[in-house]
Amino acid sequence: MTTRERSLSNLSGLEPSFRKKVEDWWAECEADGIELLIYCGLRTFKEQDDLYAQGRTEAGRIITNARGGQSFHNYGRAIDYVPLKDGKADWDDDKTYARAQAIGAKLGLRAISWETPHLEDGSVASWRDLAKMPTIERKAPSMTLKAPANTKPRKAIGRGLR
Ligand SMILES: [Zn+2]
Repeated sequence: MTTRERSLSNLSGLEPSFRKKVEDWWAECEADGIELLIYCGLRTFKEQDDLYAQGRTEAGRIITNARGGQSFHNYGRAIDYVPLKDGKADWDDDKTYARAQAIGAKLGLRAISWETPHLEDGSVASWRDLAKMPTIERKAPSMTLKAPANTKPRKAIGRGLR
């Protein structure tokens, strides 16, 4: 699978209006010479609960403070991405992250300070608001959370996944 195909597969299951923003953002990044991989989109409540269990009731270190339903990902309203350099993920490319975030801000995609790779729907203030909205595909097929194998998602787990 090419990185483009991987990115596209992670757009499936996103809430349609948010997906449109992400596609516009992606196209604008591309036009600006930014190559990137979207490695996570929709995450089910179950997947979120499994992540939450890690480092608590399960082995490993704590990677998130969000339980199922407490992340924008659980509603198809967030993506995680990484800039690519020569086809490889470059987690430390702060300059490109800043450029991508600036383009995102113009299009209504909000970055959060503690998880650099993450962009979410800026038209919604909190997951609490999403929890009140009519259900969209909460049972959609599981999306990959895996970062590219050759890299470490250091920034993705800094102060907790959202
Ligand atoms: Zn995220």
